[in-house]
Amino acid sequence: MSGEESVILVTGGSGLVGKAIEWVIENDKSEQFGKRPGEKWVFLTSKDGDLRKPDETKAIFEKYKPTHVIHLAAMVGGLFKNMKYKLDFLRENLLINDNVLEFSKQYEVKKVVSCLSTCIFPDKTTYPIDETMVHNGPPHESNFGYAHGKRLIDIQNRAYHEQYGCNFTSVIPTNVFGPHDNYSLEDSHVLPGLTHKCYLAKKNGTPFTVGGTGKPLRQFIYSRDLAKLFIWTLREYKEIDPIILSVGEKDEVSIKDVADAIVKAIDFQGDYSFDTSRADGQYKKTASNDKLMKYLPDFEFTPFDQAVKESVEWFVENFETCRK
Ligand code: NDP
Repeated sequence: MSGEESVILVTGGSGLVGKAIEWVIENDKSEQFGKRPGEKWVFLTSKDGDLRKPDETKAIFEKYKPTHVIHLAAMVGGLFKNMKYKLDFLRENLLINDNVLEFSKQYEVKKVVSCLSTCIFPDKTTYPIDETMVHNGPPHESNFGYAHGKRLIDIQNRAYHEQYGCNFTSVIPTNVFGPHDNYSLEDSHVLPGLTHKCYLAKKNGTPFTVGGTGKPLRQFIYSRDLAKLFIWTLREYKEIDPIILSVGEKDEVSIKDVADAIVKAIDFQGDYSFDTSRADGQYKKTASNDKLMKYLPDFEFTPFDQAVKESVEWFVENFETCRK
């Protein structure tokens, strides 16, 4: 990619992952991850056009003539939104993905990196989960609309490659967190949701209660680490098959570890407990990052506590204006 003019279009550029890629491109001084000469990065929001609509998507491709695309835009949400709006999750994501990939083909984009998720893997599976298992059985009932929509990106990538030689690939991140997350109390992922809850408990002098036993295990990736890995994937990764972007199995943490890190980062001194009458969700969904580590054995992930601290600081500083 270096040495020539590249226009890199990032769909979903205003979201958690898009903002992290923008941050790394602007702030990382290394040749490996920072902005390179000859690169123009364009970060899109839904205000630039509704990617569910072919005419608006086409207008974006016509305007920017991208040579590369990082495709993040998606209808995204927590468990309850996923359970309630299964058809919307399926249709909206199918439409967005179909438009972005088809216009990438029509405008002869050299490479597209799209985004899957570890929550689309089969519900009944063996652990650790790896990249070869995406289609090996039905996803969890709670998010089958989102999961099937996302799985089809991998099928589209293979079909575009086999029929037209397109260089379209995808990555599979585990749970992402960081600045610009969605901190809604009703409909967010666990880490930003607990951050908001703990912040309010401190502010109001009320107890901090975490739903469930705190025992389930999860792998979290800091959005700025994920951003570096996305940039590496765009520049270096040659396969059409997806690659899991995650910390290793040994860095899996419990929900209690997450809550502890948040309590520490917020400096919450009040009453802190677990409501064991609440459901826990899946006990674990361990994914293997062996493939990533073969490519990038020296990649350094930000230590979990430090990443939580940076994210919490961002939330506190941006409390008035952040998504919540
Ligand atoms: P966010 O919800 O933070 O951001 C979603 C982005 O998509 C926003 O920029 C939004 O624009 C844009 N968007 C949504 N609908 C449309 C549309 N119809 N037309 C144009 N743009 C649209 O998502 P994340 O950053 O968390 O997720 C990015 C990707 O990573 C997604 O593909 C998601 O599935 C995947 N992922 C996320 C994980 C996580 O833990 N967050 C885990 C694994 C995968 P606007 O701001 O203008 O509304």
